[in-house]
Amino acid sequence: PAQAELEALQHADVAALLPRPAAESDKYRRGVVGIAAGSARYPGAAVLAVAGALRGGAGAVRYVGPAGGAVIARFPETLVSEAGPAKAGRVQAWVVGPGVGDDAATVAEVLEADVPVLVDADGLRLADRDAVRGRGAPTLMTPHAGEAAALLGVSREEVEGARLAAVRELAARYRATVLLKGSTTLVADAGGGPVRVNATGTPWLATAGSGDVLSGLSGSLLASGLEARDAGSVAAYLHGLAGRYAADGAPAGAHDVANAVPEAWRDVQ
Ligand code: AMP
Ligand code: MG
Repeated sequence: PAQAELEALQHADVAALLPRPAAESDKYRRGVVGIAAGSARYPGAAVLAVAGALRGGAGAVRYVGPAGGAVIARFPETLVSEAGPAKAGRVQAWVVGPGVGDDAATVAEVLEADVPVLVDADGLRLADRDAVRGRGAPTLMTPHAGEAAALLGVSREEVEGARLAAVRELAARYRATVLLKGSTTLVADAGGGPVRVNATGTPWLATAGSGDVLSGLSGSLLASGLEARDAGSVAAYLHGLAGRYAADGAPAGAHDVANAVPEAWRDVQ
């Protein structure tokens, strides 16, 4: 084909896209990212999504959900809201899904917001396809192969064997930007065009909670004003590098990956 099917995101592209607050900026102008994640059963998903979001450039992280106590204990800078997403106060982008269990109402409520929404993990299973397709603001979905397979109604092996086709098909079906995770990360837009590929990661990133950090990081970049495709691919690039720094010759936990994001950011900048 005349147009390349894949497009590798280069170091210089990422550097140019990283948010840089202006001298006169304040926390609201930098953007507020809302995190609707976690449950009594999975409070850690909320903590890790917030950990990623705090390193992604937004001026504030607002958390809604049942894991506020765990989030605050670890990250006192988080704005914890008692109200649901619709009443939580202004945010510039939402992340919904990590560890929410069966809380379909929260997912539906977030999908009604007129700001960019990232849907991950349990949120992918709970999101109504027509609600996603009908959204006025951008949607970014971040499945791994198993989640993508469930959304497409095929086996995980079929997705693994045809990742490019799978990510494009999902983007078209949901009219969303789709980031397919794995040993490489693919990012496709609903409108077609070349699919972004990121290969900065390491197999050490195959660890519990790793994707929750990525969702918070991506959401924070969305709140900073990046387009869905840029937010997802820049986050994947930084997350991959952070994985390398955190797991430098030895295994690391997902919270270590979040802690290494600033080092990755400085490296790119
Ligand atoms: P999740 O499955 O939601 O926890 O997300 C896992 C994260 O780790 C994603 O960002 C993947 O792209 C990344 N990851 C998983 N396995 C590998 C691998 N073998 N090589 C590189 N990155 C990986
Ligand atoms: Mg996940």
